[in-house]
Amino acid sequence: MNEKKIKIAIIPAASCGGCDVSLANLNEKLLELTNFVDIVFWPTVADFKIEDLENLESIDIALFIGSIRLKEHEEKLKLAREKAKILVAYGACACFGGIFSLGNLFDPEELLEHVYLSNELITTDNTEKEIPGQKYEINGLDLSITPLTDHARPLNDFARVDIYAPGCPPREIVLDMLIKVISDYIQTRQIPEIPLVLAKDTPLCNSCPRIKPEKISIDRFRRIGREPIQQDLCFLAQGVICLGPITRDGCGLPCIKANMPCRGCFGPTSDVIDPGGKFASAFAPLFKLDQEKTLSDEELIKIVEEIDDPIGYAYRFTLGISLLKRIMREIKEGRTE
Ligand code: SF4
Ligand code: SF4
Ligand code: SF4
Repeated sequence: MNEKKIKIAIIPAASCGGCDVSLANLNEKLLELTNFVDIVFWPTVADFKIEDLENLESIDIALFIGSIRLKEHEEKLKLAREKAKILVAYGACACFGGIFSLGNLFDPEELLEHVYLSNELITTDNTEKEIPGQKYEINGLDLSITPLTDHARPLNDFARVDIYAPGCPPREIVLDMLIKVISDYIQTRQIPEIPLVLAKDTPLCNSCPRIKPEKISIDRFRRIGREPIQQDLCFLAQGVICLGPITRDGCGLPCIKANMPCRGCFGPTSDVIDPGGKFASAFAPLFKLDQEKTLSDEELIKIVEEIDDPIGYAYRFTLGISLLKRIMREIKEGRTE
């Protein structure tokens, strides 16, 4: 092994695999990087076990993928933080809890029951009615999965994060910035000023080329795929929910360019305390602005009820960092009325 190479560990927790694929998609850039980098742990591509992580004396950079949902993930993150000089939260799940944190709306027991026992769409044979967290042995081999934690949580609930690489998964533009950080570290061995977020701290709307009318007044919600949507007009002006006003800029607008609204995978700008709350306060006043004073509460409620999945829209990637999560936990623990 070349002593001058730096050591990188790629550590997955609760993830879908998409973030790993985004790294593999670096193709030649990844090969180029291996001239200067030893990938010392990446269980998605080779047979690494947690003991291999334990046995590493130190790591230069840990790319941690996914949210924390199992006790085992907490242990992996603890090891990563202890051993790595730079800890990177890679992807929306690691940064904000991501899609997995939508499961925080349910108790772990409800989730397991639904996914492993009662889900009619289940495609695997589970006649033994096994669910993770139970003791499970085959031929004396312990195959038990560590228990689910109460919530899917982002890394910074447990450990100091040095670099946030947002996106679901992070896009090439973010990967290029990350490679630059890694290259600088290879040359200088200096840790960058932290915390570093590989995205702008301005709303996506600032770089969106769609026409934004000065005054927006929406009569009803419209859903993509159900009716035609204009390609050049702001989604909000057409009654389509778009999280551009509260989402960090820097992704290159792939969704907007594909005539899809922003779902917020780059996370909120730093002035946003709660993404869903901010979304509601930005979106609600746009409704029938011109009839604002004449709308009754019932009419307003009816408009909001047209949204199939309001929490899914407002917190698609960010329920793990929302105040809602904390309030729900406090209610459960009997600390809030
Ligand atoms: S951020 Fe997106 S791509 Fe990455 S693990 Fe989470 S869901 Fe998958
Ligand atoms: S709300 Fe969406 S469509 Fe409208 S300007 Fe912002 S990013 Fe663009
Ligand atoms: S437009 Fe929004 S959802 Fe799409 S990549 Fe950018 S931040 Fe993510």
